[in-house]
Amino acid sequence: MNPVLQSLDDAICLFYPRLCLACGKQHLPSKQILCTTCEFLLPRTDFHLFKENDFTRKFWGRVDIQTGTSLFHFLKESKTQNLIHNLKYRGKKEVGVILGKMLGKTLIKSELYQNIDLIVPIPLHFKKEIKRGFNQSDVFAQGLSETMKIPWAKDALERKIFTETQTQKSRIERFQNVIKAFKVKRLELLRNKHILLVDDVLTTGATLEAGAIKILKVRGTKVSLATIAFAKSD
Ligand SMILES: [Zn+2]
Repeated sequence: MNPVLQSLDDAICLFYPRLCLACGKQHLPSKQILCTTCEFLLPRTDFHLFKENDFTRKFWGRVDIQTGTSLFHFLKESKTQNLIHNLKYRGKKEVGVILGKMLGKTLIKSELYQNIDLIVPIPLHFKKEIKRGFNQSDVFAQGLSETMKIPWAKDALERKIFTETQTQKSRIERFQNVIKAFKVKRLELLRNKHILLVDDVLTTGATLEAGAIKILKVRGTKVSLATIAFAKSD
């Protein structure tokens, strides 16, 4: 940063101190999102060490994936939830990039992620992306891509139907809607590639399952999955 801007940034910090986006307590130097305590204590899953794990188990009998992992465990009212909340609802785009880089650093050390060719984020419906200003899965993919030195394709998949307010529908009806919502837009780009499909939080897995099913229809593709957070219960 330019020295004048840096001093201005430091001055602003005196009046509006930056707080850790996970615990909301510790003050941070510029460009950091986590305090040292949170950085060490946030619950990492370490799923990347095992081809089959609690993450991949959610997809058994549903879709044939190579492997899958999340950076953190997700519990309600936890520090992980604060981070995701800051990313999705408070416009803290940088959270996604930084968490992507954190996961990327662990994946480059795992044999299971050595032959990924392309990173593809789960798209948002364009109306939702305009409202939020960005897609949280895109920024996560960008961070992963920078660290893993693997290209990412923002527009490989497209989300066609607005799949919100489905609470009255059954699980099967909801899933059918999600499947219909995705369309492969960059067929040639995906062909014969091992794709790392990424999203923010894994809960039921319906969104990632639908995205993976669509990608696997393209000849020669393999799919692995990654998310920022992993929620244990459905
Ligand atoms: Zn903290």
